[in-house]
Parts: sequence; C-alpha cells; structure tokens
Amino acid sequence: MITTAPYTHCMCWICGRPADSSEHMVKASDVRQVFGHITQYSPIFRHSSDQPNLAVPGIRSENLRFSRSICAHCNNSRTQSHDKAWEIMSRGIRELDPPLYPGAIIPIDCFFPGNAEAQVRNIHLFFTKLFGCTAVEHGAPLPVTEFAQSIVKGEPHPNIRLIFVHIPPGSSRYAIHVGPIQLENKSGRTAAHWYYSVGTVGVFLSYAERLEERMTRDVGWHPDDGALIRMA
Ligand SMILES: [Zn+2]
Repeated sequence: MITTAPYTHCMCWICGRPADSSEHMVKASDVRQVFGHITQYSPIFRHSSDQPNLAVPGIRSENLRFSRSICAHCNNSRTQSHDKAWEIMSRGIRELDPPLYPGAIIPIDCFFPGNAEAQVRNIHLFFTKLFGCTAVEHGAPLPVTEFAQSIVKGEPHPNIRLIFVHIPPGSSRYAIHVGPIQLENKSGRTAAHWYYSVGTVGVFLSYAERLEERMTRDVGWHPDDGALIRMA
C-alpha cells in the first residue's frame, strides 16, 4: 500500500516552496487549437463526473485551473519544456493529413526532427505534472513525491504509461474532459488511471504500483519504448 506524507496545500507538491501558482487542468494551447478564442459570450464547457457542462468563459477561467498547489518556478521555468513538447505534439497530431485513425503509428520524431529522444521524455513529464496536480487536488492516495522527483530530475516515472486516443469528430467525447482519477487496490497495491482529452486528441494515463497490475490491458507507452506511438 502506498503511504504518502499528508499534503499541505500551501506548499508546492513538486519542490516544497510556497504554492503561489495554479496549473491549467487543460493546456491553454490545446483549448486554443480546438476552440479558438473563447469569451463569456461564446464560452466552452468542461465535463467531469461531478461537474458536467461547467462553463469556461475564457482561457484564464478558474474553471480550467487547479487550486494553487505548485510554485511559479515549477509551473513555468521548470516545466516549460514539458509544456512546449506537448503543445507541439498535440498540434502535430491534429494537423496530420490524412487524419489519424485507431491503430495508426505515430513516429514522434516527425514532430521533433533530430530531437525526439528528449521530447518524448518531456511529453511524459507533462502528463506526470497534470496527474500529480489532479491527485493533490482530490487527495488521491498516490505517491506524488515520486512524481515530483521524476519532474525535478527529468526522468520519466517507470510506473506511469500513456495511451494516446484518437476521438472522431462528432463523437460525444469531442469536448474537454479531465479526470477523475480512478483507483483500485489489488492485494494491497495501488493502480490508477486518469483521462485527458481536448477535441480529437485524448490521453489515458495508467499508473500501477506494480506494472503487472495495470488497470488497462493495453500496455500503453513509456519513453523507454522509443519514439513510436500507437493510437488507440
Ligand atoms: Zn515548486
């Protein structure tokens, strides 16, 4: 069973400095790519299990942000390269012509010529940050100190795997969806998964305290697997 130190909401869960910053639940660039300019007169809506159809009247809306749980340094300079990597990859996926389909193989180096090895780590770390922020926000019993160490060291957590999903336009899932984290305890070991999607691009994150106890049968992807990703 995972044991974690009680989180204090005034401290950055990544570095322990005062938490004076709030991370976007959904990356602002993802929202802009899909929905363009949003205002109070033309809002978009975020869906979650506890709050369906939550109006988002602007890109800086608190309805798109976590509570303050990290510091400005970690939210900006420490993770800027992680954020940028996902921004480039998500745009690249959306702009592919012909569009993606389930089972398609994406060579990540087509989005990052000559620099894929570093960028696949950054993409993994971007979702590790969002997953950690979600866990802290909802008090999920997950080892956020391990996730923090991965982010600080720039080393992907070995027990987190990602599954990239193509969502057909017109699908009921063609909107913004974030979480919640679903937890399962198997013989005293924790497994969890969490879902993030904006428009046609979705990502399942699967965490397992022991890898053989993953909640999903799909093995997903980890940077150690290389720069080829199969769309689910
Ligand atoms: Zn920090």
